[in-house]
Formats: sequence, C-alpha cells, structure tokens
Amino acid sequence: MNRAPQANPSSPPPGSETESRCQLLVLGAGPGGYTAAFRAADLGLEVILVERFPTLGGVCLNVGCIPSKALLQAAQVIDDVDQFARHGLSFGKLALDLPKLVAYKDGIVSKLTGGLKQLAKQRKVRVLQGVGTFSGAHTLSVHSEAGTHTVHFEQAIIAAGSQPVRPDIFPWEDRRMMDSTDALRLPEVPGRLLVVGGGIIGLEMACVYDALGSRVSVVELQPELIPGADRDLLKPLERRIKGRYENIYLKTRVTAAKATPEGIEVHFEGDKAPATACFDRVLVAVGRSPNGLRINAEAAGVKVDERGFIAVDRQGRTNVAHIFAIGDIVGQPMLAHKAAHEGKIAAEVAAGHKAFFDARAIPSVAYTHPEIAWTGLTENQAKEQGIAYTKGVFPWAASARALTQGGESGHTKLLFDPQGRVIGAGIVGPHAGELIGEANLALEMGADAQDLGLTIHPHPTLCETLGFAAEVAEGTVTDILAPKR
Ligand code: NAD
Repeated sequence: MNRAPQANPSSPPPGSETESRCQLLVLGAGPGGYTAAFRAADLGLEVILVERFPTLGGVCLNVGCIPSKALLQAAQVIDDVDQFARHGLSFGKLALDLPKLVAYKDGIVSKLTGGLKQLAKQRKVRVLQGVGTFSGAHTLSVHSEAGTHTVHFEQAIIAAGSQPVRPDIFPWEDRRMMDSTDALRLPEVPGRLLVVGGGIIGLEMACVYDALGSRVSVVELQPELIPGADRDLLKPLERRIKGRYENIYLKTRVTAAKATPEGIEVHFEGDKAPATACFDRVLVAVGRSPNGLRINAEAAGVKVDERGFIAVDRQGRTNVAHIFAIGDIVGQPMLAHKAAHEGKIAAEVAAGHKAFFDARAIPSVAYTHPEIAWTGLTENQAKEQGIAYTKGVFPWAASARALTQGGESGHTKLLFDPQGRVIGAGIVGPHAGELIGEANLALEMGADAQDLGLTIHPHPTLCETLGFAAEVAEGTVTDILAPKR
C-alpha cells in the first residue's frame, strides 16, 4: 500500500486523479467524523475524510446545534429585555433586521467551519468533497461534479449521520414547509407557525420564532413534551410556554396537510384535536433517521438494519472487523458529544490502542427557555425499571443567583443509589446545560452526596445548587428548611 503523504491535504480530488489510498478512511465530517479523523491523524495514521458538503462540521455545525444556539442567544436577549422592562429598564419596541441576524448566525458557523478546515490541513488530513458509497470491503467511491474518485482504504470509520424525517403527508414542495434546516435559515418570521413534534428541535425552534414574534402552536403525539424527560423538569418550561404560545396540543397527530393560497391547511387527530387550521408556515421536527441505507454498506459487507442503523461493539467495530461506525448511524441518543466520544474511541482502536466505550452517562440538554438538562438515570427510568434511588432537590427560588437571572422556577435534582453515589441528575433553569457538566463529572467519578456537599462552591452561583441538592439528600442543608428524612 502506498503510504506517501498526499500532495494537497484539503482540496477536492483533481479531475485527473481518480484513485487515492489511505490507512484510514472516515466517511462523514460531522462532530463524530472530524474528531475521529483528527485523532487518528494525531496517532500517526494517514487519513482521508470524505464529506458531501463543501464545509466540514456536518449537521451540528452547519445546520443544527451551532446555528440554533446563535438564534437561541438572540431569543434570550429579547426575553431578558422583556423581563427587565418590569424592573425599570426599557429599550423600546424590538426592531428586527433579519438579514443582519442571519449574518451573525452564519458568521459564527463560518468561523467554526473555517477553523476545522485549518485543523484538517495542519494535520494533513486529506478532505475529499463528494458523496461516498462503498464499492467493496476496502474501497469507497466518491461521486462529485469532477467525476468518480476511488479511495482504497485499510480501515474505515462510517460517520455518515442522520437526516430529518420528512413524512410524506406534508406538501414539501411548498416553500412554507420547513424542516429544521429550513427553519434555521430564518427565511422570515411567519405570523402563525405550527411546530409538528414537541421534541428538543421543535421546542428550541419554537422558542426562537416565539421570541421573534410568531404566534406559535406545537403539536405532539405523546402525552408530554420532550418524551422521556422527567415531568418535574418539564413543568417550568410548560408553565412558561402555555402562557406565551397560541396552542400546545398533546396526544395529537397531524393526519394531513395541504398547501392553499392562504397558508398550509393542517388536519389533526386525537381526543382533544383541534379543528382543521391554517398556518403561515409549518415546521416538522418529528425525529431524525440514520443514513445507513444510503452508503451502499452491503458492498463492504457491513450489516445495516431496516431503519438504517449499523450495530457496533464497544470499540465501534461493525460486523466487518476493519470497518467501524460512530454517531447517529449507530443509534440513540443522536447527539454530537456522543458521536465525538465514539469517534475518538474508534480512531484509537484503528490505531492499535485498547480503547472502549466506557462512559457511564451521556448528558442531554434542551436549550429552551428555561433550559432543561439531565444525565444518567432519570426518575422515569428508575420507576419503570424498579431501580432503588433517593433524591435531593434544591429549588432555585432559594438561590440568590437564580433570582437575579429570572430563574426562580428552576431546580436542581440529584438521584443517588442506596450507597449514596450519584446515579442521575436533572436541572431546569438558566444555564442548566452548563451546570449538568458538574453532575456528569460526579457521576463518572463515582462521587457521593458528601463529595458534592463538601465541595466548596462559589457563592452566589447557580453551581452551588448542586452542592445544596446534595446537602438536601444528606439532611445538612441550611439554605432551605431540610425536608423531613
Ligand atoms: P425527537 O425524536 O427528539 O422528537 C420528535 C417528537 O416528535 C417526539 O416527541 C415525537 O413524539 C413527536 N412526533 C413524532 N411524530 C409526530 C407526529 N406525526 N405528530 C406530532 N408529533 C410527532 O426528534 P427531534 O426533536 O426532531 O430531534 C432529533 C434528534 O436530534 C434527537 O435525537 C435529538 O436528541 C437531537 N437533537 C438534540 C439537540 C440538543 O442536544 N440540544 C438539539 C436538537 C436535536
């Protein structure tokens, strides 16, 4: 095998060149793929990274986590200004310059994608732009306008991700229909917006469009929003949005939708389903489906299930020993930080290291207002699976820092096993997504309530609520009256 370094590390394949060779091929340059490629290069492997889009970073960076956070930050500013109007600070009516806001969001994305391009170049990771499909156990075809380029690889990591589910009951040919990618482009602020799917994407985008002035309705199939999250964490969010959104329909299904000159006409079904209604735009966020069936994996002998998922072992290996898979394509939760973690492991194993997926918990964050974050065991799971636990809950109404940030409806909850070790945590309130990091570290380190309670947290902060929640469990809390044990 030719292991000579490639001449031009991050350019598309020149038309004249139809073949390349590498030790490790990575298919897909999202957070999983680029992490795997960079780690493998750092460990000395010659890496080719194949990506269909012109920029690195995948869905998360280009059309997912990052642009949505930019817009949620804008929504936060609007909410903060609204809140402080009640406390003596008024700035007048919102003047929205949509193109400028879009440019701010796009600017953040390009800074980050530019950074990744640079990092790939510095590591001599060769990036090939095109759609990759397997053509054999050691070959991948990269299709682009320049033609078809064949990559011969010794090992491969599949990191081809997922895409939004687009049920065919919707008139997708109409420009007023949006999936999450369309919604993040922020084409306009519609008067009346229907969000189909009360999961994390639906509720984050609802938060943005509500702050910008749309009248938002959310329709969710299940009896609760963000199915799976503990009810107590959802309550502060529900209370807030019930007062702001036009409607929230639970246990309701959209059965049909039609484009009319007035808007998208939507039919609902369910015990409390509303009558047919018309919306200026409809955002569909009913989940994502893995891309396993789009990469001709069978040519490499890699098994893909009927939904498009690829099964892997704890080292990320598929049924074909020299081919690994990571990220959304190997299963839930479809989260960037899970993909990146798996990417490092697969790269290390490919480089001959003894690495395994050994994380105890994968945190989840809904960057809604208020934010909701959880990690490890949830109370829902504990009850369903009959797992014994105790808990400590600290209400943010007793946190000075939370009061200054409009977070009095929040709380911090820690779950402990019978030995007192942290096995789960849930937080709702401003910056919950930042705070869950400490709980996750506690869980990984096998910390118990005393460890957290005896850690000196700075005062006044939101992070001290983790110490207080541990003290509640210990019965040593002084900032509230200790609940009877
Ligand atoms: P999801 O699966 O989390 O939520 C989709 C929701 O739509 C579910 O609550 C489901 O019950 C509902 N639904 C399905 N069909 C429906 C129908 N016909 N009518 C009404 N409701 C229906 O999916 P998502 O919100 O699209 O997110 C996709 C993935 O991306 C998830 O894995 C999510 O965790 C991930 N994601 C994470 C973040 C984050 O970490 N902040 C942000 C965005 C997305």
